[in-house]
Amino acid sequence: MKITVATTGLKVAPFLVIGSGIAGLYTALKLAEIAEVTLVTKETLKESNTTYAQGGVAVALSASDSPDLHYTDTIKAGAGLCLPAAVDVLVNEGPERVKELLAMGVPFDTEAGALVTTREAAHSRPRVLHADGDATGREISKTLVKLVQTNPQITVMENHYAVALLTGAEGCYGVLTLDENQNQTCLLAQATILATGGCGQLYLNTTNPEVATGDGVALAFHAGAPVADLEFVQFHPTALRLPDTPCFLITEAVRGEGGILRNAHEDRFMPSYHHQAELAPRDVVARSVLLEMLKTGNDHVYLDLSLLGPELIKHRFPNIYETCLSYGLDITKAPIPVAPAAHYMMGGVATDLYGRTGVPHLFACGEVANSGVHGANRLASNSLLDGLVFGHRILTYLQTHQLSFTQLPAELEATFSAETNPAQVTADRLTLQQLASTELGIIRQENGLCQAQHYLTATDLKQVPTLTPDYLELQNLRLFAQLLVTAACARQESRGSHYRLDYPDPNPAWTKRIIQSPQGTSTIPVEQPFTWRW
Ligand SMILES: Cc1cc2nc3c(=O)[nH]c(=O)nc-3n(C[C@H](O)[C@H](O)[C@H](O)COP(=O)(O)OP(=O)(O)OC[C@H]3O[C@@H](n4cnc5c(N)ncnc54)[C@H](O)[C@@H]3O)c2cc1C
Repeated sequence: MKITVATTGLKVAPFLVIGSGIAGLYTALKLAEIAEVTLVTKETLKESNTTYAQGGVAVALSASDSPDLHYTDTIKAGAGLCLPAAVDVLVNEGPERVKELLAMGVPFDTEAGALVTTREAAHSRPRVLHADGDATGREISKTLVKLVQTNPQITVMENHYAVALLTGAEGCYGVLTLDENQNQTCLLAQATILATGGCGQLYLNTTNPEVATGDGVALAFHAGAPVADLEFVQFHPTALRLPDTPCFLITEAVRGEGGILRNAHEDRFMPSYHHQAELAPRDVVARSVLLEMLKTGNDHVYLDLSLLGPELIKHRFPNIYETCLSYGLDITKAPIPVAPAAHYMMGGVATDLYGRTGVPHLFACGEVANSGVHGANRLASNSLLDGLVFGHRILTYLQTHQLSFTQLPAELEATFSAETNPAQVTADRLTLQQLASTELGIIRQENGLCQAQHYLTATDLKQVPTLTPDYLELQNLRLFAQLLVTAACARQESRGSHYRLDYPDPNPAWTKRIIQSPQGTSTIPVEQPFTWRW
């Protein structure tokens, strides 16, 4: 659905950032070094996936490590679909960005003055920095939020939901927002940066908070920007599974420190699935856990921490220990019931290596973006680093390219989905989540994908419905699901996090990426970066 908005009396600011996770906060701080920034976020500044990140930031800083080793591990996890040039940027620029975080005051854990590193799944070296044990995201967010709030160059607009990007002849001019009193505001900028995170809320069980509803992919797609790799959804193998208890992540680092997975019969099962056992890549562990659950007829397996001992558990994982205790589970005494949960979207808005999207004046970074760095499966703890590195690259681009519009049109277009009855938002969201969990989850096949496709067929409303964040989020989740289904149907193979029961093996002919835009679906060779003519 398309509406037009008048631009009379509106000012064009230099920079507009949408989202306040690591990518949005950090990029806003960097851009504020060169001009004024408006930062818009749909809830409070601290509400984001970032705040819940536990394990840490993967970066090759120690003497026993190198960017080359980090590169090899990332490429291997990506199952043949990483863009090598993007990985090169990530691992080589990562160390500088993390040193910057340290200088900004993020309290990464140290021992005798040296940074402490953990080894996580599919990493060949211990290289994951953490803060307050298992509260890395909270500490990063706290530090960056404080800096943003005290930066005179940054105007913060909390509780402003981005409804649609404003587009016209020269690309993206800004965003239309909705505040908690349903007031609409148009914000214009020379450069708009999307940093709206992922889409875990498409699924019933997810580690992501309520704000992760795929809004950024929908905003960009409606504005005409291509999106890529939407079939690749990472499921975390170990989220707490207790009755009537929120889905809570049990970080990979617990397995890194010696946690063992056991099925309902208390048998250790991972060595029979993969030579790296509990430290196999995430997709392998998630699938193995699901298969063991199906085999034993249980909705969970167990994470046994008895090798760690109570002191290490409390010292290294204070957040997990306290949270489980608050749910009546003492993890120093009993194993943790766990099951897989939707965790991270590898797919997103296609960007070049400077965060530019297919729409002029529109940039994207963080989980919403797809530079090709994660391929078919993200290496654990690479995403916080991704937000920093590619956020910084947007600064590099804007420092050297003065963006401006030749003319501001009298009217701009705002396009968004309006496909379902506004009166049924809650019920429709639940139905969609149930469908996604069964048919678009860890194991997929033709029949289920077709069923999902059928359910997602749009009924176009003829009139603009009352716009509320709940309604718009449902429409965005639906669009994300439609794009996911299209890509998952097309990819008739299994690779990385995309597993098809009817095509269980990788097919070399599919060593290419699926890209979708309002103009249609196509593929591009893996080694080819996205390039745009602006
Ligand atoms: C439980 C958990 C643990 C994790 N652990 C790790 C880890 O240890 N290491 C690691 O590297 N990664 C980890 N991840 C992944 C990582 O946290 C995320 O990929 C990363 O934080 C994404 O950052 P971001 O800034 O791109 O998005 P987010 O942090 O999700 O921020 C997105 C922001 O956009 C805002 N927003 C969204 N839609 C709109 C809209 N329509 N209008 C306005 N604002 C909007 C949101 O409110 C939010 O502020 C974890 C994720 C989870 C959920």
